[in-house]
Amino acid sequence: MHLPTAILALGVTLLATGAVLVAIARSMPSLLGLRAFGVGCLAFGGAYLLRIVLALAPFAPLDVVADTTMLLATLAYGSAFRQFGGGPALARRTVVALLGAFALVSLGATGVFGAVGRHTVLNLALAAAYLVLASFAWVASRRADGGVHMPLRIFAGGVLGLGLLTAVRGASVPMVGVAPLFAGLGAQLYYGYSVLIAVVIGPLMLWMVFLRLNARLIEVATRDPLTQLRNRRGLDEALDRHYAARTPAPLVLLQVDVDHFKRINDLHGHEAGDAVLRDVAATLERHVRAGDLLARLGGEEFLAACSCDDADEAMAFAERLRGAVAALRVALPGGGVLACTVSIGVSPVIRARSAWGDALREADAALYAAKRAGRDRVLRGPVPPMATPSAAVVAVV
Ligand code: GH3
Ligand code: MG
Ligand code: MG
Repeated sequence: MHLPTAILALGVTLLATGAVLVAIARSMPSLLGLRAFGVGCLAFGGAYLLRIVLALAPFAPLDVVADTTMLLATLAYGSAFRQFGGGPALARRTVVALLGAFALVSLGATGVFGAVGRHTVLNLALAAAYLVLASFAWVASRRADGGVHMPLRIFAGGVLGLGLLTAVRGASVPMVGVAPLFAGLGAQLYYGYSVLIAVVIGPLMLWMVFLRLNARLIEVATRDPLTQLRNRRGLDEALDRHYAARTPAPLVLLQVDVDHFKRINDLHGHEAGDAVLRDVAATLERHVRAGDLLARLGGEEFLAACSCDDADEAMAFAERLRGAVAALRVALPGGGVLACTVSIGVSPVIRARSAWGDALREADAALYAAKRAGRDRVLRGPVPPMATPSAAVVAVV
């Protein structure tokens, strides 16, 4: 491998990757960490190209600029991984202090030991930065969701290797001088590996971006933005998963509707209505068990599909939900608090997906019977078609 060509390829690849990532980050600023990662690629690419220029036309004062830019790149990567993992960006002050300290030590070492001092400091500093970076990427991978941990882990492994190789380079310079850094098997290996990492970084990042965007798309399509509960589509998907199991648990449907919600909107304003919906949703969510499905069907109507084999147990659970909402005091945006109630219609136990439609109709009929019976109550279906309010009360707990 012709090393100047390899370094040129490294620089150009990193610049191109960085430009693409920064362009994506500009149009999607909410993809945290992407901009810092693009900046890291640009800085690394720029530093490598500057090195080539300096090799052709040596100008010693710029050596420290090229070296410091490399360290800047690793700090930008570190900041990116912290952000991917949900942490804050590296503080600007920290970056400036680290770069300033490095530049001073580098200049001092170059002044005293010449090229040996410069390359020892550079390689040891880069090795330390790579090892920290690999640990950041590893930590981010442990916190990451939706498959993002895989590209992060590949990155962590790749950069760990680079860190170890760079540490060996840095430690060997005082013993063997700088010539082996740029010629021989060790140099071939090092730059070969660096090119591989630089080539892989772009696709890894795009892989992560794709996974993040896909996760967001699913979130937007299946979640209600006001309450963060599933919407109808989300409920359908969750049901598909539920009934894909070999022995799906029996379910009971609880159709929950806020009483006189229109009046809340009319009296206190739409924002107060939204606050009520958010708090009622949160209360329902706190009470359903893991494995139960909860969705906002629309307006002020919610559906809970609870794993339950016993209709009386379902009635008792629905009553606990009703009581929890009745005890709720919603803080209104304009000050003050508001109480509200819900009516709940409960379906019979359903054991197959084919029974879902009938069960929903029965829960709905029971809900409307509960409304007619005076609201703030739980009723169970099936409800006789011509039910009067008193006859409709199949089970008021
Ligand atoms: P009932 O006790 O019989 O259920 O009466 P209700 O007033 O609760 O029911 P109705 O269907 O008459 O009114 C529902 C209201 O919910 C009407 C609609 O403007 C309001 N609504 C629907 N979606 C939202 C929302 O996202 N936010 C707010 N604030 N209001 C909403
Ligand atoms: Mg209502
Ligand atoms: Mg309604």
